[in-house]
Amino acid sequence: MTEPAFPRLALIGIGLIGSSISHAARRAHAAGHIAIHSRTPATLARAEALGLGDSYHADPADAVRDADAVILCIPVGASGAAAAAIAPALKPGAIVSDVGSVKASVVAQVAPHLPAFVHFVPAHPVAGTEYSGPDAGFAALFDNRWCILTPPPGTDAEAVERLHDFWRRLGANVEVMTPEHHDLVLAITSHVPHLIAYNIVGTAAHLETVTQSEVMKFSAGGFRDFTRIAASDPTMWRDVFLNNREAVLEMLGRFTEDLAALQRNIRYGEGDALFELFTRTRAIRRGIIAAGQETDAPDFGRPHGSGEDAPG
Ligand code: NAP
Repeated sequence: MTEPAFPRLALIGIGLIGSSISHAARRAHAAGHIAIHSRTPATLARAEALGLGDSYHADPADAVRDADAVILCIPVGASGAAAAAIAPALKPGAIVSDVGSVKASVVAQVAPHLPAFVHFVPAHPVAGTEYSGPDAGFAALFDNRWCILTPPPGTDAEAVERLHDFWRRLGANVEVMTPEHHDLVLAITSHVPHLIAYNIVGTAAHLETVTQSEVMKFSAGGFRDFTRIAASDPTMWRDVFLNNREAVLEMLGRFTEDLAALQRNIRYGEGDALFELFTRTRAIRRGIIAAGQETDAPDFGRPHGSGEDAPG
């Protein structure tokens, strides 16, 4: 059997992403001992009942003691406080990382607390579902998905390589970029789409002339796919928007301009412009399928007539 990437791994937070890391690390023998901390006794007890770790700690400092790698798996806005709590217990040479959906803000919150003898390598696995908590995780979550590493300039190359190797073993493809570039890319590929979903589902909820039951009944016309995204965790997404404000506002500005142009196309009957855009966007969808980031099964691969949709 291959050596684990990290003989001792500490997970601070054990929701969807933390528990998926545990499952995937065990599947790949990528970690030896897994030490787990979560803020509330109920979540920690649930993680223990599910057997997600080898030790469970009410105090985050106890979880990270002697750990070769520590991964913060908590909402972005809680990163600074978590770093302050673990800093005094970190082992020299340890790798400190995270999974936050925003990177520049995490760097600004975490870096000032860390001692010079640890290596800080922020990361973002671009994979998830709309489910939360320790029960939501599964080993295949990161398979063939991207994990973006955003090491600050001057980070020890060997530490970056070790984290790279860890995520590869978890099934992910790995790319390195600056935190600022990450935040711009994710603003358009993830953050603004979530905002649009939250907004359209909110708008439907406020309508007076179309009833709530009609919205539910006819949701397969497109609305249903927005509701899946709009069911994502409120705490996580509040923190994403508060912590990636500039990039989201930049992309939202462009989106609003393009929406105004579409509004104009519709008002003045400019069918050619609509047709041309819809043809280009269809090609983007086909490109995503070709890149292996989505299935080409009709209706997102939904099992028709067999009950529940698969998460994802
Ligand atoms: P989750 O399932 O809701 O789990 C959140 C974890 O963080 C729980 O252990 C929770 O502990 C803890 N937590 C919540 N608020 C906290 C606070 N104020 N201080 C300390 N701990 C706190 O969340 P998740 O989906 O795993 O997301 C975790 C991170 O992954 C976020 O930064 C998110 O941006 C990132 N991410 C998420 C996705 C996704 O699709 N969900 C994808 C990629 C990256 P208790 O239950 O004990 O309160």
